[in-house]
Amino acid sequence: MADRCFPNVMPDFVPESPKISDEEAKEKHEGDEILPQGTQDSLLKLLSLPHSALSQKLQRAALDLKETIVVETWGATGQRVEDFTLYTGTLGTAFILFKSFQVAGNKNDLSLCLEIVKACDSSSASSRDVTFICGRAGVCALGAVVAKYIGDDNLLQHYLAQFKEIRLSKDHPDELLYGRAGYLWTCLFLNKHLGKETIPSTSTGAIVREVISKGRKLGEAGGSPLMFEWYGERYWGAAHGLAGISHVLMEFELTSDEREDVKGTLRYMMKNRFPSGNYPASEEDKKRDVLVHWCHGAPGIALTLIKAAEVFGDKEFLEAAMDAAEVVWNRGLLKRVGICHGISGNAYVFLSLYRLTGIVEYLYRAKAFACFLLDRAHMLMSTGDLHGGDNPSSLFEGIGGMAHLFLDMVQPKNARFPAYEL
Ligand SMILES: [Zn+2]
Repeated sequence: MADRCFPNVMPDFVPESPKISDEEAKEKHEGDEILPQGTQDSLLKLLSLPHSALSQKLQRAALDLKETIVVETWGATGQRVEDFTLYTGTLGTAFILFKSFQVAGNKNDLSLCLEIVKACDSSSASSRDVTFICGRAGVCALGAVVAKYIGDDNLLQHYLAQFKEIRLSKDHPDELLYGRAGYLWTCLFLNKHLGKETIPSTSTGAIVREVISKGRKLGEAGGSPLMFEWYGERYWGAAHGLAGISHVLMEFELTSDEREDVKGTLRYMMKNRFPSGNYPASEEDKKRDVLVHWCHGAPGIALTLIKAAEVFGDKEFLEAAMDAAEVVWNRGLLKRVGICHGISGNAYVFLSLYRLTGIVEYLYRAKAFACFLLDRAHMLMSTGDLHGGDNPSSLFEGIGGMAHLFLDMVQPKNARFPAYEL
């Protein structure tokens, strides 16, 4: 287990130094002093900075990372798109630019974002994948939303029309990365940014019913009211399984029977978690307590339990989410940088719990993971101790995830796990 994560020796809580006035800050250059990096001292110093000083540092680091990512994935490729997806490809760069615009308000980010989406539009035209994270739906939806922010109504209509051409077939699975849940999430994203019934509830509702009825059929055989399969395996996690599908279902209007089935599914997972508090990856893989990722394990399931606490209000879900967050704190400082199975993604568990509960210890824990990266990610990647991902500039596997997290740390109340939290 030790080879998967760094031991977390960071203190359970470090209070911020008291705020200093602007004048004092100018004199002291608070937050700007050059510290040796990668030591317990340098990390503790970062952790005790006042929020304003730390967020300036994080924002600056995020904007630098963004520049690097744009050069690597866009400039250096001659603006050719080979992998258009949000997960490992060029749409991830566009998404980071959109996030950067939302935090820093620079309109140049928005124009470049749109340029990149246009290239992804051409290269995804024949794709049959229907989701935000791995499919063409993400291209059309991000295009429509950014067109709206830039005030180009024709382009908005173009992308919306393209989105409506996307067809779900019987062969598509139900999970988040390639299936119905990922298509439904895209509809939620469009409705959030473009207005409630942009994608009408009559059409999303029919897909929701279909997902639930398929889940019930497979659920009948075991102890969970809902169960799904992806390539022959019945996964639990956010990327391919119960957590991801339930997370999306809870965003929709459900009947009381359907709500009970979603609750029952979450209770089934809570009851059958590992003694350590972590969660199995699938029904078929219930013995190996090793994965503490967003895709498989406690982090992705924690985000779903937080959503359940918010939607249903039941205390049991919040308590289970807090238990899962303990696992993430102790075993989630992974030797990988990204969003899907890395430190950046795991930090979102704490941000999400902070948003729901307002408990500052959770904000501290998110800050601790972010500061660990800010302090030593580059150094650890250069020595090979921290894996930068097979696609090192990507949003889900590479430093794109770190850029996204740093931007979200600037406005933690608005933080959202990309393409998962609305
Ligand atoms: Zn993963």
